[in-house]
Amino acid sequence: MQNTAHIIGAGISGLSAAVRLANAGFKVAVHEATHQAGGRCRSYFDGATGLTIDNGNHLLLSGNSHARAYARSIGTEAGLVGPESAQFPFVDITSGQRWQIDLGAGRLPTWVLDESRRVPDTGLTDYLKLAPLIWASEQTLVGKSIPCEGILYQRLVQPLLLAALNVDPPEGSAGLAGAIVRETLLAGGQACRPLIAREGLSAVLIEPAVKFLQERGHSVQLGHELRSFATTDGRASALNFGGEDVIALKEGDVVVMAVPPRAATSLMPGLKGPTEFRAIVNAHFRFEPPPGSPAILGVIGGVVEWLFAFPNRLSVTISNGDRLVDMPREELAQAIWNDVCKAGGVSGELPPWQIVRERRATFAATPAQNALRPGPVTALKNLFLAGDWTATGLPATIEGSVRSGDRAADLVLAAKRP
Ligand SMILES: Cc1cc2nc3c(=O)[nH]c(=O)nc-3n(C[C@H](O)[C@H](O)[C@H](O)COP(=O)(O)OP(=O)(O)OC[C@H]3O[C@@H](n4cnc5c(N)ncnc54)[C@H](O)[C@@H]3O)c2cc1C
Repeated sequence: MQNTAHIIGAGISGLSAAVRLANAGFKVAVHEATHQAGGRCRSYFDGATGLTIDNGNHLLLSGNSHARAYARSIGTEAGLVGPESAQFPFVDITSGQRWQIDLGAGRLPTWVLDESRRVPDTGLTDYLKLAPLIWASEQTLVGKSIPCEGILYQRLVQPLLLAALNVDPPEGSAGLAGAIVRETLLAGGQACRPLIAREGLSAVLIEPAVKFLQERGHSVQLGHELRSFATTDGRASALNFGGEDVIALKEGDVVVMAVPPRAATSLMPGLKGPTEFRAIVNAHFRFEPPPGSPAILGVIGGVVEWLFAFPNRLSVTISNGDRLVDMPREELAQAIWNDVCKAGGVSGELPPWQIVRERRATFAATPAQNALRPGPVTALKNLFLAGDWTATGLPATIEGSVRSGDRAADLVLAAKRP
């Protein structure tokens, strides 16, 4: 008899586990509390701009091997698009200075040896001072590991680590930062090409996964929130979705809990997870980017950190954005638009806009919060955890989410073998 894998949560972590288990012969049933799959990685039609927008601009890098393999498995890897080589243009909007870091396309970080390809006014020794990140432990602070001042920090290290960790870099975990550096900057330009789901997160990473599952006879139930579950003899034995809606688990059925930490810890008393989160603020403007606008522009010296150019739209990401969540929306939109004009070389009145403030975008990637991340194995033999907040060795990213989903699926498969 075919066993059923119940996946709780249809974010990237849950969907990646679901696809892997479906491919391995399990019958898969995904249960999602809300009426849309995707969790923190989703698109929707926005009336204010008249555009389909993402809840947040999501940047992948070509070295994100699990995320790309997931997209390949649902047939959408070609939907992750970016420039041929790893070039990152930047602008300092206080001085107007513009430069481009060119990481090339090789497997070694030789770009640091070439003055014309590295950050202006930096020398090789500045880069060598970043070496301690490579072997730093997850308990070490970034601020205790590398210099958090100077030109290289302001122009490259700070923007990169802020985006990766979603905390002020000095308070971040050096081990998590090091994992990013090892898998991207240190792996040369071939691992650093920026990739974006230009057609939208849902169109590239979410809806095709749901379709993949449904076309093969698996179920994805939306508006189906797990309220509690029963256990018998060290196994999850029934899933309770409210009222009469209870699913009894058969011998051999498994559960992958791929919900955010607050939901997981309330469903599973005794489970520890991160308790501090940081916001990410995104602003979207209905505005045709000028011809030749870079797909992604690093912005230094303003409130804006990254400016993305999409067809009909300029979009902005601001990490570690708790300071902005209570600011009046119009005031914030205007402040961001002022920076966009300087950075993007555009002008004009505030165009139609939307601000999306994800208050709990990611857990705070500090050593203390990182220490609270549980592994995938639980006290219940047939229940495994997935999620960007579980102990993946990475900060909360799509790559970490897919790895957690793959890992939970692999544990399910390993447990099933005689
Ligand atoms: C604004 C923003 C920008 C970001 N930018 C980037 C980026 O540039 N690059 C990058 O790699 N990552 C980025 N991230 C991080 C990335 O989005 C997350 O790491 C990833 O989406 C987390 O996926 P997940 O499946 O682990 O969790 P979630 O997406 O939170 O999914 C969990 C799902 O479980 C559901 N659920 C909760 N409780 C229950 C229940 N009881 N029963 C059933 N279902 C339940 C939820 O509704 C949700 O759909 C960003 C995140 C945000 C918010």
